[in-house]
Amino acid sequence: MKSDLTKKEACGVFGVRSFDEQNVSRIIYNGLISLQHRGQEACGIATLNENQIHVQKSLGLVSTSYSDRALSELEGRIGIGHVRYSTVGTSTVTDAQPFKIGYPRNGIVLAHNGNLVNYVEMRNELLKNGRNLESTCDAEIIAHKVADELIRTKDIEKAVYNYMEAAEGSYSTGMFTGERELIAFRDPNGIRPFSFGVNDKAAMLSSESVAINVNGIENVQDVKPGEMIIFHEDGKTERKCIMKGEGKHCMFEYVYFSRPDSTIEGRSVYDVRIELGKNLAKEYASNADIIVPVPDTSRSAAEGIARQTGIHVAEGLMKNRYVHRTFIMPEQKTRSLMVEMKLNPIRSILKDKHIILVDDSIVRGTTMEKIVSMVRKAGAKKIDLFITCPPVISPCFYGVDIATHNELIAANHSIAEIQKKLNVDKLCYQSMDGLVKSIGLGNNICKACLTGEYPTCKAQKIADKMKTQKSLTHKRYYEMDHC
Ligand code: SF4
Repeated sequence: MKSDLTKKEACGVFGVRSFDEQNVSRIIYNGLISLQHRGQEACGIATLNENQIHVQKSLGLVSTSYSDRALSELEGRIGIGHVRYSTVGTSTVTDAQPFKIGYPRNGIVLAHNGNLVNYVEMRNELLKNGRNLESTCDAEIIAHKVADELIRTKDIEKAVYNYMEAAEGSYSTGMFTGERELIAFRDPNGIRPFSFGVNDKAAMLSSESVAINVNGIENVQDVKPGEMIIFHEDGKTERKCIMKGEGKHCMFEYVYFSRPDSTIEGRSVYDVRIELGKNLAKEYASNADIIVPVPDTSRSAAEGIARQTGIHVAEGLMKNRYVHRTFIMPEQKTRSLMVEMKLNPIRSILKDKHIILVDDSIVRGTTMEKIVSMVRKAGAKKIDLFITCPPVISPCFYGVDIATHNELIAANHSIAEIQKKLNVDKLCYQSMDGLVKSIGLGNNICKACLTGEYPTCKAQKIADKMKTQKSLTHKRYYEMDHC
């Protein structure tokens, strides 16, 4: 569960090439099941068998989209899969990934996790050059741009470099060619996570390390920012720095998106969340009776607060695991109803208690208002709300749909006002220092949605404009031709 963060395209990508004769479609299926939390609206698997590329995409969950028969039809030795989240209304099979492009030579297949800031410019350029585009998905733009550059340069290294020169944004990308090469490349800021692992049987790439681990490879590394890796048929791995980058890894991956059993940039997500909780407990005193996490992402932070304070954790809120984001409608009324369907308080735990309620973030504030009201109705007498992330005050252009300043409660209200609006006795946000220390990567994290300072130029320009016109969206900015 999480707060009221409406995430768009917080996707997951998984790729594999086998070095023996095993069929990769089942490995991809297992990988996508492990990445399902990153996107539940659509999924896709593409494989290469001999010279034939097979693609099957579907709306909905991985488990209901691929039968044994479907997986045997997708038999191959190399392949890529994807899970996608987008806002309802734009989620179609046409926009699902991976994308297959019929050129050059035997074609390429590509899927990514992230978001192109200059999507509109790149799309217009491709249309001007006569390319037919089927979807509104930026992975199709990446696929065409790389394919065009491959035709022009006949060199994958140069083609990816030229693509990186033209693109701004986040893109942890997996692709394979009709010539049987599995390739991974990542934007120079390395905003979204991207891992790979190799053993004598297979090479795998994944948005999160956990999907590689469950497929039997323990030793997992990160694709470096600006790096391209080619996994050759003979088992060799070729690593190239295409564009040197500093590394600006999304702090939200640690705070909320990624599974706690994943490791990103050498940091265990679980350990980071424990630290976030411990730090909150150091910064804010509370003599609460119990700590109640909002499931699921806040559990580790609640454990961290408990370790620091000695107050015990109690599961005062139960989550219905079978209500998926697939059914979430964007309207506020439906969103409120979803909170009740998804979460239920346990009265016997909450009644007459002073609680520390723990959650990872507050974006709009509407979902949190609902949760607090639910906890109060269940009898909690006092609520100290601990938030593991500092206030979100600015939009995201790198894959999280935090759309406008208008929507962000902390961009428009003081902490005292938010505390009053949420009806809590104390509101305790993580400090910026506490966040940075807990993640442990120093300056190499993106925290643009917390500071308004973006790691890329166009994003900064758009955000500055949006700050002066608070209802302006990224899309509308381009429509107004401000490129
Ligand atoms: S702006 Fe925020 S959500 Fe977006 S990539 Fe940066 S830290 Fe992550």
